[in-house]
Amino acid sequence: MESAEIRRRWLSFFEERGHHVVPSASLIADDPTLLLVPAGMVPFKPYFLGEVAPPWPRATSVQKCVRTPDIEEVGKTTRHGTFFQMCGNFSFGDYFKEGAIKLAWELMTTPQDKGGYGLDPERLWVTVYEQDPEAERIWRDVVGFPEERIQRLGMEENYWDMGVPGPCGPCSEINYDRGPEFGPEGGPAVNDERYVEIWNLVFMQYERGEGSSKTDFEILGDLPSKNIDTGLGLERLAMILQGVHNMYEIDTSRVVIDKATELTGVAYGAAEGSDVSLRVVSDHIRTSVMLIGDGVTPGNEGRGYVLRRIMRRAIRNMRILGATGPVVQDLVDTVIETMGQQYPELITDRKRVETVALAEEAAFLKTLKAGTNILDTAVSETRAEGGKVLAGDKAFLLHDTWGFPIDLTLEMAAEQGLSVDEQGFRRLMKEQRDRAKADARAKKQGHADLSAYREIADSAGATAFTGYTDTADEAA
Ligand code: ATP
Ligand code: MG
Ligand code: MG
Ligand code: MG
Repeated sequence: MESAEIRRRWLSFFEERGHHVVPSASLIADDPTLLLVPAGMVPFKPYFLGEVAPPWPRATSVQKCVRTPDIEEVGKTTRHGTFFQMCGNFSFGDYFKEGAIKLAWELMTTPQDKGGYGLDPERLWVTVYEQDPEAERIWRDVVGFPEERIQRLGMEENYWDMGVPGPCGPCSEINYDRGPEFGPEGGPAVNDERYVEIWNLVFMQYERGEGSSKTDFEILGDLPSKNIDTGLGLERLAMILQGVHNMYEIDTSRVVIDKATELTGVAYGAAEGSDVSLRVVSDHIRTSVMLIGDGVTPGNEGRGYVLRRIMRRAIRNMRILGATGPVVQDLVDTVIETMGQQYPELITDRKRVETVALAEEAAFLKTLKAGTNILDTAVSETRAEGGKVLAGDKAFLLHDTWGFPIDLTLEMAAEQGLSVDEQGFRRLMKEQRDRAKADARAKKQGHADLSAYREIADSAGATAFTGYTDTADEAA
């Protein structure tokens, strides 16, 4: 089943069951606490927090998401992308645990010719929060789910909160057994690659008080209105329904791998190392296009930095695969072609997306060669002195003069067996920022560099300011 069809079925299933269909919001979160949208519930946060009355009791969406913290997993696990789409259904004080579990079960297991996803029920496993007997009872007694494939997990995995006082509650997750090819048996509690998590059901039930960590806080009591927030990874379901090994091989991503192969001559499947690079390229170019599409431009801070880091990582992986010239135009066009089917604004905006991406590639290629030489020299010097840590000022120079994101320096140093004095780097960055701030302040207050005036004053002798009493007109 194609990604587009998975999405269509999701939205129509929930629409037919009384959910209002809400288009994906921009990746740029309308929320000062977030750089980018990491989950489908973000646009609905004001309803969950009780700040705004929800206009409908039920909603559904397929939301564009970016999770930068997952960047190290990309290409190495089979299921983490920096960009992915989260299918969600939401209830604002309407149905609760039983309603959510029954809907999820129905959609997962209804045969494909009857509008569902037709997953083999024998391959499904569910997890519940260890202190949520209600969820366990619903799975077992209402749905008829076999007890031996229900696993209980602790707060780390199966409890949701926002890290601050507010709504919280237990989760229940649906996982799919991909078989012995993916490792030993034992259920999702012991093997999360084989029993891949596809759908998380969050039961917002309690009010959380103050607390120091994710697992250490007080529960103040029940929420006045209980809510449902669910999220299913579209790419993960596509990976299962398309029978491919990982999420980078699904219809909308594989085309990027193939384009990268065409550009480098490195076949997918040739070696584990180059396969990881091809998957990283596929993921990162997709993410870059989606970010630029939503108006992010590369820069050194915030969202701009996220985009810069991801794009430069993609380009460098293409170099590792053997590319010598520019590659971004072809890769970006491939993503626009495939993602443009779901997000037609990418096609109408093609020129702008290309221009931003190509400018970043040009800037990076210009500095990559020189920067790599500087880095290699610094690495040799460090080694010659018997050191194992690249100095912070070298990392700073690479960042400041050669546009190397710190993560790139970290990665390239690690490839040569060195770590980096990150603290020293951060200190120099802070000093530079403080200097820039002081300059900006001085400019704003008109306290720019006064030495030139002082020189004139010194050479001409002091002059008395008469502007308060004499005006120019009178003087004329
Ligand atoms: P995992 O444990 O596999 O990292 P998660 O528990 O962090 O996933 P949730 O926050 O529960 O994920 O998000 C809901 C769903 O979104 C997940 O069940 C999964 O299908 C999907 N998802 C989460 N992170 C990613 C990602 N980086 N790439 C692709 N899909 C993802
Ligand atoms: Mg995760
Ligand atoms: Mg998880
Ligand atoms: Mg989860």
